[in-house]
Amino acid sequence: MSVLRQDVSTNEWVIIATERAKRPHQFVKTRDDTPNDTETGTFCPFCPGNETAEPEVLAFRNEGPPDSPGWWVRVLRNKFAALNPNGTTAHLWEQGFFPYMEGVGVHEVIVETPEHHTSLALMTTHQVAEILFAYRLRFRELRQSKAWKAIVIFKNHGERAGTSLRHPHSQLVATPIVPHDTRLKHAVAEQHYDNRGTCLYCEILHHEMAAKIRLVDQSPSFAAFHPFASRLPFETWIMPLRHKASFGNIGDEELHDFAAILHRQLRKLHFALNDPDYNFVLHTAPLEDEDKDYYLWHLQILPRLTTIAGFELGSGIYINTALPEETAVFIRETSSV
Ligand SMILES: [Zn+2]
Ligand SMILES: [Zn+2]
Repeated sequence: MSVLRQDVSTNEWVIIATERAKRPHQFVKTRDDTPNDTETGTFCPFCPGNETAEPEVLAFRNEGPPDSPGWWVRVLRNKFAALNPNGTTAHLWEQGFFPYMEGVGVHEVIVETPEHHTSLALMTTHQVAEILFAYRLRFRELRQSKAWKAIVIFKNHGERAGTSLRHPHSQLVATPIVPHDTRLKHAVAEQHYDNRGTCLYCEILHHEMAAKIRLVDQSPSFAAFHPFASRLPFETWIMPLRHKASFGNIGDEELHDFAAILHRQLRKLHFALNDPDYNFVLHTAPLEDEDKDYYLWHLQILPRLTTIAGFELGSGIYINTALPEETAVFIRETSSV
């Protein structure tokens, strides 16, 4: 069982994942620290034929029993889950001072395709939409539990983004607390709403669409831009034009449109920067605030072209060596086909 410990100096929660525990000496740096690369012929738990390695939570297939081939999207419990569903969500205190909780939550893997050697950028838009449908299905299922306070959906593409498995996959984590970053973004948006009576994110979108200089894409229900204060080169935000606090509440047509713009932006990054490593994170309201007016769900693509170093870790201030107005032009001029 992992455990959630809270840093009382920042209120941030940390997951101490004992399932994948390493002994202190295992952190000693070795010279031949070769990454876990499935291309060298090691077993891939996500490839068709290996379904029994991990029982599925959800799969899209025309026919056939669960945990058999024939699927095109498959969702599994993460074998090395950071959080596990069993346990209590009670807050506890060590020595009456240090706050902690049992490591309860849900940690799932969305296997995006049966094909081992591909990526989101190289799939069809239809397949990207199927993946997003799987996200929404799992989101809607998990939000029914009162135990979970937030759902984080994210992707790590490439080693610099933190993935050790090459087979295309994304992840979903349902947490028993509202994560610090979500809380902070929410608090800022709520304050803006109190002061001005408007949704901060819809206003950001409105201003980016009016200015046009950082805008990289627009569709019937979405827009994509490189934000004014981009932390990373080619940081890209995709926002819905219709106000909704929660990703879980978007309709089918919007989901298809979301797939199209996300796919287009990932293809452009792929072609413009030669398949860069990246993370993407879907930001959505905490589950108890899904019907509030002051937050807008959105997706952030964070290319990992530079290293986050001491200054960023020590100050929270990112040094970005690229101008979003210039990267936006570069992406606009890159073909997605
Ligand atoms: Zn594979
Ligand atoms: Zn809004």
